[in-house]
Amino acid sequence: MPYQPPNADILKTLETAPNMYLVLSPGLYILTASDLYLEATQSRREVIAGKHIFEAFPDNPELPDADGVQNINASLQEVLRTKKPHYMRIQRYDVPDMEHPGKFIQRYWDPMHHPVLTPDGDIHYIIQLATNVTERVLAEEAFAKQIIAHQKLEVSEKYFRHLADIVPAKISNALPSGEVTFFNQRWLDYAGMNFEDLRDFGYHQMMHPDEIPVFQEKLAEAAAKGVALESEMRFKDINGKYRWHLNIASPILNDDGEIIMWVGSTTDIQRIKEEDQRKSDFIGMVSHELKTPLTFLTAIVQVANKKLEKSEDSFLAGAMEKAGVQVKRMSNMINGFLNVSRLEFSKLIIDKHEFNLENLIEETIKETELTIASHIFKFEPCNPVMVRADYDKIGSVITNLISNAVKYSPKGKMIDIKCEIIGNCAQVSVRDEGMGLKPQDIEKVFERYYRVETHHTQHISSFGIGLYLSAEIIHRHNGKIWVESESGVGSTFYFSLPLN
Ligand code: ADP
Repeated sequence: MPYQPPNADILKTLETAPNMYLVLSPGLYILTASDLYLEATQSRREVIAGKHIFEAFPDNPELPDADGVQNINASLQEVLRTKKPHYMRIQRYDVPDMEHPGKFIQRYWDPMHHPVLTPDGDIHYIIQLATNVTERVLAEEAFAKQIIAHQKLEVSEKYFRHLADIVPAKISNALPSGEVTFFNQRWLDYAGMNFEDLRDFGYHQMMHPDEIPVFQEKLAEAAAKGVALESEMRFKDINGKYRWHLNIASPILNDDGEIIMWVGSTTDIQRIKEEDQRKSDFIGMVSHELKTPLTFLTAIVQVANKKLEKSEDSFLAGAMEKAGVQVKRMSNMINGFLNVSRLEFSKLIIDKHEFNLENLIEETIKETELTIASHIFKFEPCNPVMVRADYDKIGSVITNLISNAVKYSPKGKMIDIKCEIIGNCAQVSVRDEGMGLKPQDIEKVFERYYRVETHHTQHISSFGIGLYLSAEIIHRHNGKIWVESESGVGSTFYFSLPLN
């Protein structure tokens, strides 16, 4: 007997029922669908009626793992076999987008298949009752994602704290306002306080008072630029004793470049500092010990020089003059080392008197010309410039700049020395046509023991203390010292002293 579909009244009732029904023949052809079903699947009755269910509702080809068709088919086959209702778990089964052919709309369903039997017990038709649960599933998915993200954050926070506790440095986190939000265990042990007490006590209370103003000023500068600040500073330990630390305050920026947090890493360098001090003390002691025989030697050479002035023996006279030059060089070097060690003890005394800077420059050039014939010195005399400063020490700065210009430029080149009044300052410059400096060295040449190492400099005797001492001397006069230089072209070293 040919298949008899359900009568029109039944179909009409199903079409207007307040549920999402799809009515299928036992061959799985669509007989009709409820209005709500059509609405949820964005389809039209006349388009889908008569079609096989999977022709009307194929899988979304953009989802390679989509198994909607397979699952629905399995459920329908189960119903055809058992003639009993079959319930399915929630699943994704996208529906074709009527307005954009070829596209699909994401849908989650909670379907069941219910067979309606003929009086003979055969399947007359199957009703698919499907609830569109898309909104609920998406909301649950979003919630689950949030939970996972939160858990990940918790794990990464735990990881960070663990890491912060095993590194040998003291680590802290602070908000841009300065409020500290984290101290690692090493900080707490060092201070002998718990987190709340250390936070309330104030991390600044642990800094050495001498270092706070400079630190705060530099931190404000670093904050304005959004860069890290590295400083050597002392922090008080649990027994109230200060220890030297290398403190790095590093900002964390958001996508707009605003600081959202500071991470502080503070490493104990007390041992390195003490070792440094011992080395300096040793250099100081050796230099001091060398000074006595050298003074004696200088005096003998001077006397011998005087006596040999009128001597017939030109070799002896020349030899003694050369000895005098070498003794002077040696005593300059030793004085340099002694000054470095004095500087470390803050014992470098600046003895200020009023004098004419122009005279000092002229005298220094004359003295240099006596021993150096390899370069041409050019000095543009300025008007008398009276300054209040340490005559010998400013003299040693000028000597150092001139002798560097000689050391680091080829023979026969010009060394141009200038003295000008600029604003309220006397400015001295020494320009050479030598090897110049690379940008990365320009910032460092004033550091202690810093020397540029190239194949040009390997045969030049240098200790990297001249500019360090010069800078200290100028800073103690409240002056400035700097360099402008181009590698391979030459350098101009400048210093300026306030006029009153
Ligand atoms: P020293 O010359 O004894 O090494 P300084 O402190 O005077 O010590 O100089 C530090 C370093 O700066 C030098 O080793 C050299 O590399 C570089 N330097 C100084 N003056 C000049 C210059 N005029 N031209 C090029 N390099 C220079």
